[in-house]
Amino acid sequence: RNDNSYERYVNPQWVHLLDVLEMNVNYVHCHGVELHTSDGKAIIDFNSGYCVHNIGHNHPRLIAALKEELDRSGPAMLQTHVSDLAGELAEKLCARAGGRFTKVFFASSGSEGVETVIKFARAHTERSGILYAADGFHGLTCGALSLMSDEFWKAGFGPLLPETESVLFDDIEALENKLAAKPFAAFVLEPIQGEGGVRVPAPDYLIKAQALCRRYGTLFVLDEVQTGFYRTGDFLAAHHFGVEPDMVVLAKAMSGGLIPCSAVLMSDAICNSIYSSLRRAFIHTTTYSENSLAMRAGLTTLDILEDEKLGARAASLGEYLRRTLTERLGKYEMVAEVRGLGLLNAIEFRKPRSYLLRIPFETFSKIHPAMFGQVVVMRLFKDHGILSQICGNNFLTLKIAPPLVVSDEQIEHYITAVEQVVSLAHT
Ligand code: PMP
Repeated sequence: RNDNSYERYVNPQWVHLLDVLEMNVNYVHCHGVELHTSDGKAIIDFNSGYCVHNIGHNHPRLIAALKEELDRSGPAMLQTHVSDLAGELAEKLCARAGGRFTKVFFASSGSEGVETVIKFARAHTERSGILYAADGFHGLTCGALSLMSDEFWKAGFGPLLPETESVLFDDIEALENKLAAKPFAAFVLEPIQGEGGVRVPAPDYLIKAQALCRRYGTLFVLDEVQTGFYRTGDFLAAHHFGVEPDMVVLAKAMSGGLIPCSAVLMSDAICNSIYSSLRRAFIHTTTYSENSLAMRAGLTTLDILEDEKLGARAASLGEYLRRTLTERLGKYEMVAEVRGLGLLNAIEFRKPRSYLLRIPFETFSKIHPAMFGQVVVMRLFKDHGILSQICGNNFLTLKIAPPLVVSDEQIEHYITAVEQVVSLAHT
């Protein structure tokens, strides 16, 4: 059908972009950065499914590997046996991540990874409190929600986990006060807050935070669900900041966007502690973890990212993008800041004043002025064929996260388009 009428059966998770635009778009083929519609348009993707499509949509090598895996008719998942594919992927992830990692727990979503961290940290330290950075995003299951400060996500779903506390992100003094006041099992945070607005901490914040955690016997845990897999240039954002966390959560880009997969990396000591101290096997597992298609997707995605040197590409294109946007947008009153690392970037807008009203946007009446970023998202889509999103519920912050295979021309097109949209507000 070509009229979106199936949608009534599906969780209406967003104020649907197309409903607000009163447009009907039917995507039929997606390749690389391009999403082709049934009426012959090509939209370019600057959202990547929220940092999923690092290798681009439907990468031919990934499709071929998955077809081959299906044809092998091996055991897709037995749950009584560790497959060679799982072992190989775990070994490669530990090697890439470096540091203290020797064990991997596989799951299917970022949220499950965060749930895993909570359980392993509590069992390992025999402490119950979990500290987390305010304004972060860790997933919408109840445990993960318990590590998020923003009532926007939590209201109406409580009571959530007890003994979780937030501390300001990028505030080392506040962290020390919290850690000194009470024993915590773990401090969980994103190295760069993605949905929180692409907030990059001071260069020494994470290393100091790690040192404090070690001093107070608290596990230092990074949620790299958005920042992992070369999104910021390095395999992990942790590498950029020179830290060696006790656990890392990976998901999203890990399996190339075709099949769910996530992982928690940890040491033998942390992993084994749940089995030795609680003395029960099978105490933490999830059915589809280590599924052979997911494992094969993980291995192939890693090969593609590295063979195509997409980390280096993310680093240099990101540098160029931030520098050029800063130069070109700096003169506009409405632009507060361009920031990011690698190809995880954002433009933060100032809350518009009267000039907003000059923006010619026919459906503007449906959008609150404090949601100006959404207006930009819509104009980018409608006038320039660019799919993008704001950061979480930060309605003034436009996220820029194209697949890492984005071309130089697509980056130029994006820069020109954003400048045109922003300039509309100032004419
Ligand atoms: N952590 C971070 C940093 C995320 O951005 C997200 C998803 N946006 C999650 C965890 C949750 O992942 P999932 O949606 O796969 O459960």
